[in-house]
Amino acid sequence: MDAVRIVEGNTRLVVPAGSVSGVVPPRRPAFFNPRARRTRDLAVLAAGAHAEEHSGAYLDAMAGVGARGLRVAAEAGSYDEVFLNDSNPHAVGMARQSAALNGLERVVFSTMEACRFLSEHSVRGGRGAAVDVDPFGSPASYLDCALRALQYGGMLAVTATDLQVLGGLHDAACRRIYGGVPLRTVYGAETAVRLVAGCMSAVAGRLGMGISVVYAESHMHYYRVYANLLPKPGSPRLGYIVHCARCGGRRASDAYASTCGSCGGDTKAAGPLWTGPLFDADFVDKMALRDAGQNGGAYAPYLEKCRREAAMPAAFYTLDEMASRAGTGPPPLRIMLESLRGEGFSAEATSFSPTGFRTDAPAADVCRIVSSAKSHAHKV
Ligand SMILES: [Zn+2]
Repeated sequence: MDAVRIVEGNTRLVVPAGSVSGVVPPRRPAFFNPRARRTRDLAVLAAGAHAEEHSGAYLDAMAGVGARGLRVAAEAGSYDEVFLNDSNPHAVGMARQSAALNGLERVVFSTMEACRFLSEHSVRGGRGAAVDVDPFGSPASYLDCALRALQYGGMLAVTATDLQVLGGLHDAACRRIYGGVPLRTVYGAETAVRLVAGCMSAVAGRLGMGISVVYAESHMHYYRVYANLLPKPGSPRLGYIVHCARCGGRRASDAYASTCGSCGGDTKAAGPLWTGPLFDADFVDKMALRDAGQNGGAYAPYLEKCRREAAMPAAFYTLDEMASRAGTGPPPLRIMLESLRGEGFSAEATSFSPTGFRTDAPAADVCRIVSSAKSHAHKV
């Protein structure tokens, strides 16, 4: 089998030759996407941040050639053991070679179906401090066995790549798979992440547990949600994002209201979905500290946005959207944020969109302020 060696982070990896030569990485003999390095870098930072306070095993149920899991073993520090499982023996064969290249011990390999692997860990003393589920498509069918394989306080990280379902092209499928429906809006990536987190929360609730989301991302063709498992359901975080097409208003709500509280227009709602925080500021701080040490702060501006938006309202605005509504051009983001703050509103950029921002200002005020920010930007 054709394989090549690459280095990613501080880890040497054996990967299929076809995955680094072609435009689209092939699934056979094993899948590896060199362009998904960013998500692996951030997964290593998140695992490292989590491992600072939780010891135990890291379980990668769909490890592929082991790029993420081996980097966690080599770079994230203090998990006791790393279990790399993939149903594809060719992929696991490469992961074994990579582990040997890096001199990594305490890495355990297996080639089981993902839920079978997770079920083997769903026993006293066998549960993971962290579980990663990285499927093609939706993670929904793996959430039960993933949560059962996790210790309390453990971290579950899942990937979703079913963008069309989560993006509002197949509402019936989304309701069936995730238990809620999206809306096609400029903040669709946030809605998608919240649908995935909502599904994680609902499954945890059925098992008598709860989750708290500590970090989430949307990048290229995937969404990732990282959540800690809580021993109790906690306060309900499932609700709706209610959107008014007339005034552009948007807000998280426990109930589905069909009339806009601001303008009286008809509203639509996405959900049920996770309406709680998408970031834990302390957790993101730990990721940023590790990034400074490991990557020279390559992700510092991005993680700073995540930290600052942690306590901000759900459902962001974009400059283009609100400028178009106001009949003007978009001002620079920095000036828009300053203008909103100047009027006493809170305002922060969002990590989900380069022109996105979160604010507690009503949509009518956002619309008015985008015009004044645009004319102010002309004067300076
Ligand atoms: Zn309205």
